[in-house]
Formats: sequence, C-alpha cells, structure tokens
Amino acid sequence: MQYIDPHIHMVSRTTDDYETLAKMGCVGVSEPAFWAGFDRSGVEGFRDYFRQLTQFEPTRAGWYGVRHWTWLCINAKEAENLSLSRDVLAMIPEFLDLPGVLGIGEIGLNKNTPNEATIFLEHVELAVKHDELILIHTPHLQDKLQGTRMILDMLRSDAGGREGRVLVDHVEEHTIAHVLEAGYWAGMTLYPTTKCSPQRAADMAERYGPERLMVNSAGDWGPSRPTAVPDFILEMRRRGHSEAAIKRIVYDNPLEFFGQCRRFDFEPRA
Ligand SMILES: [Zn+2]
Repeated sequence: MQYIDPHIHMVSRTTDDYETLAKMGCVGVSEPAFWAGFDRSGVEGFRDYFRQLTQFEPTRAGWYGVRHWTWLCINAKEAENLSLSRDVLAMIPEFLDLPGVLGIGEIGLNKNTPNEATIFLEHVELAVKHDELILIHTPHLQDKLQGTRMILDMLRSDAGGREGRVLVDHVEEHTIAHVLEAGYWAGMTLYPTTKCSPQRAADMAERYGPERLMVNSAGDWGPSRPTAVPDFILEMRRRGHSEAAIKRIVYDNPLEFFGQCRRFDFEPRA
C-alpha cells in the first residue's frame, strides 16, 4: 500500500532507510524541524539546518522516488534561550516560500516552562501572520496531558478558527479526544520505547474513527523505527479493516491536510 509518513526526521536516518521506506510503499515523508541532540550554537546553525531540510533532503529522498516536505521552527528544548529563539523566528520567513515547506513545526512544549510557552506563542503568531499550517509536538509521559491542555488553550486564544490547519502529534489515549473534539488533526506516533504501539494506535483508530487522524513513526536519531507506519497497516489488516479505510489514515488524510498549504504539490502515482 502507498503511504505517507507525516512525521519523520530523515536527516538522522541513512540513505538505506530511504530505500527501505520506498520498498515498503512510502511515497512521501514530512520532516519537522527538531532538536539535534545538542543545542545549536547560534542562528547560523539553524540556517544550515534549514538549508539541509529544504535542499539536500528532498534530493536524497528523490533518489528513491520519495517526496520530501518539511516544517521550520526552533524546538521547545532550545526555547529557554529567548534571544536565539527570536533570531531563528526572524530568519524563518527567508525559507517560507520555498517549495516543499509545509509550515511551522514541530513547535510545542517539552517541560511546560514559561519560556517554552512564550516561544510557542511567537511561532503561532508567525504562522498566523503568514497563513501557514502548524505541526505540534506534545510532551512526553507525565508532562503530556498538562502540556496538551496548555497547548490547546494557547491555540484557542491565538489561532482560534484555524483548527483544521493544525496537526497535534504524539497523541495518546488520554489526549486524543481533547485534540479531535476541538477540531484539530491528530497524529499517533509509533515509537518503540515511549508513545504508542501499532496495537494501541489501531485501538484508537477503531474507537475514534479515521477522520482527521494520521499515524507516523517520528523516526529520529534515537531508538526509533522508521518503518512503523507499515506495522500499523499490517495490524489494521490483521483486524480485518478494508484497504480503503486503512489508506484513508496513512495516505488520504496526510494529503488532505498538507493540501491546505498553498505551495503543496503532489502528483499521485497512476
Ligand atoms: Zn519529531
């Protein structure tokens, strides 16, 4: 089955991973800007990272017939440095009109601190000003519910009415209803150590239905599984769901969401 991974950090993955994804049916990947595993030393480090995301990664993906789209931001882990964050925010518009850029992300909260909230809101304001889509990271484990509540409150006040243009990722059983009922898109992340398994994701898909629901691997530089979306497809097949119902979550929904970006272009395969 053809599918799209709407959240994967391919700069951390090998060219062999692109080949494997292509062989498993992946036709497109969307890569949010992310923390490098260490704090970048200045704004020029981000400029180089954004060049990599908008220039080299689409080329590398293209070697295997995979489309590559991206999102730009400074990650919440680096938001404690307010002046660096604001330098990056001021630079982002240089890249916003490039083909393959889908919007602002992955923004969000990590430890739910005041500085993280400040920089989150400044990203939202930038997205609203430029009419960009938003991709959101929700925090891990014990911080997730509180962080998700804070994020949804901030979005309501600063981006109310734009719910259909926002994807909230890493939802789990205790946060998915908050996200979907408020009108946002929701992404379930299949991750080997934390977040969600294919079985739990299939349970949530059965409980909440396919509308505004996606599934991703969030593959990055840590222990992660870039082929996790096919694991979900297999689990859904095993439970007897139709190909059309599965395809809606792993292919049609990402295309519908991304399709709201004025730069988005995608030619489905015959
Ligand atoms: Zn991520």
